[in-house]
Amino acid sequence: MRDRVLIALGSNVNREYNTTRALKLLQQDPRWRVLAVSPIYRTPAIGGRGPQPDYFNAAVLIETDLSPEALHRALREIEARLGRIRTEDKYASRTIDLDIVLIKDRQLELHGAPIPDPDIFHYPHLAFPLADIAPDWRVPGTSHTLKHIADTLRVSAEEIQLMTERKPLFRVDTFSHYGSDQIFEAEENEVYDPEFEAMIRQILIRIGEDPNREGLRRTPLRVAKAYDFLTSGYTTTVEEVVNNAIFTDSCDEMVIVKDIEFYSMCEHHMIPFFGRVHVGYLPQGKVIGLSKVARIVDVFARRLQIQERMTNQIADAMVDILEPMGVGVVVEASHLCMMMRGVQKQNSSTITSAMRGVFRKDARTRAEFMNLIRDRA
Ligand code: ZN
Repeated sequence: MRDRVLIALGSNVNREYNTTRALKLLQQDPRWRVLAVSPIYRTPAIGGRGPQPDYFNAAVLIETDLSPEALHRALREIEARLGRIRTEDKYASRTIDLDIVLIKDRQLELHGAPIPDPDIFHYPHLAFPLADIAPDWRVPGTSHTLKHIADTLRVSAEEIQLMTERKPLFRVDTFSHYGSDQIFEAEENEVYDPEFEAMIRQILIRIGEDPNREGLRRTPLRVAKAYDFLTSGYTTTVEEVVNNAIFTDSCDEMVIVKDIEFYSMCEHHMIPFFGRVHVGYLPQGKVIGLSKVARIVDVFARRLQIQERMTNQIADAMVDILEPMGVGVVVEASHLCMMMRGVQKQNSSTITSAMRGVFRKDARTRAEFMNLIRDRA
């Protein structure tokens, strides 16, 4: 039986990452379909002993064939993947909380917790995001809609101060909210991705290191974060980064974006290769912001790659989104896996190209492109 379910989400340990990751895992899961995601709220922690970090709170509306029991288990699995360890302490800090709040028009009890969750009548951090995505949902057993409940809680000025953000703090599917320092540094007592960190600890032991020595203690966490960033292309799509920034234009001159820096990792050794990408296209009514071309390069660079495939993927993506007369992509790269092992001369770089449309068929167009990218000031 297909049910619509509202899920509340909360995190106050590495909350930017965990909130993003939980939303992403929810969206990728084939066992349900995500219909709506609320804005994310920041709220002070309540109860508990001593000062605790603020929470991020949000709500998600899904549609699923799972039984409430199976859904409950599925959410616990996601929590476990994000390092949540459930304890008796209701107020303890947590990487992520995923709670079923409402299931269609049903009233039931799930592992001792009533559904609908009675807390929605008391806590703005629950009621507000729920009301944002399902304002007209009537809470079973009452005559109140979620909007009505949220409005009631809004009356208290004290409670209203809980909210600092009415808009989403960041997009669900990007890591753009991370400054580079945050990616590679580790906060004291930070919890990130225990499974991943355990594997990296194993690598350290295997290569003869002591993962407990001072300098290495936070290394598994830093490496996990770095890998998530360096491979974020797997969870980013071209459509997302382009985000409708395609403009209609009658321009029929060749557009060139030169010297786009990129950093990738070879799929054979998981060692970096890096260099520059040059992209040219001959528009046919559609153009794209120049900075977006660099973002498209990152979608493909931030994966395990081989240079030839990355070059082709960038060209094909440009063809897909712009339907131009033609596209040319040239990539110049240095491969550390070769340089570090001394297989090749240190200064050599590998050049690959992909030509589409008139760039492939017309030698003069191709020559013009090659001249323009070679022409260094
Ligand atoms: Zn390699």
